[in-house]
Amino acid sequence: MKRPDVDRPSTWKSYKNDMCNGCWGGCCTMPVEVKSSDLVRLGVASEDEVIGSVKKLAKRLIKEGIIVSYRSGTEFFMLQQKANNDCLFLDSVTRLCTVYDKRPDTCRQFPSIGPRPGFCPGAPRK
Ligand code: SF4
Repeated sequence: MKRPDVDRPSTWKSYKNDMCNGCWGGCCTMPVEVKSSDLVRLGVASEDEVIGSVKKLAKRLIKEGIIVSYRSGTEFFMLQQKANNDCLFLDSVTRLCTVYDKRPDTCRQFPSIGPRPGFCPGAPRK
């Protein structure tokens, strides 16, 4: 079966309840923007760092390869992706999130909120 093209939301499928079961995790290959509260929940930043200097925090997280950028205007951090576009936290074998209980709000809200609300780039793993 041909997978939907992650970069072309017009090819995505209408989301249904059990679509995540056995999915290859297409949504986890897209760039993910997160807030500082997500970083604290993920355990990669402390409350004190957020209260202190967010720019200093961003600098550390970029250096450690956890984020690629921080936009002070929107206060969004962009999570790092692997060379194949997988999210840093996606298990490449199981195609499951390794931080599921602590995943960012952006991930929790997908696909209700996303490039094409109600649609996803999902497909069976094989
Ligand atoms: S944090 Fe988890 S759910 Fe969110 S994109 Fe990464 S692997 Fe997927």
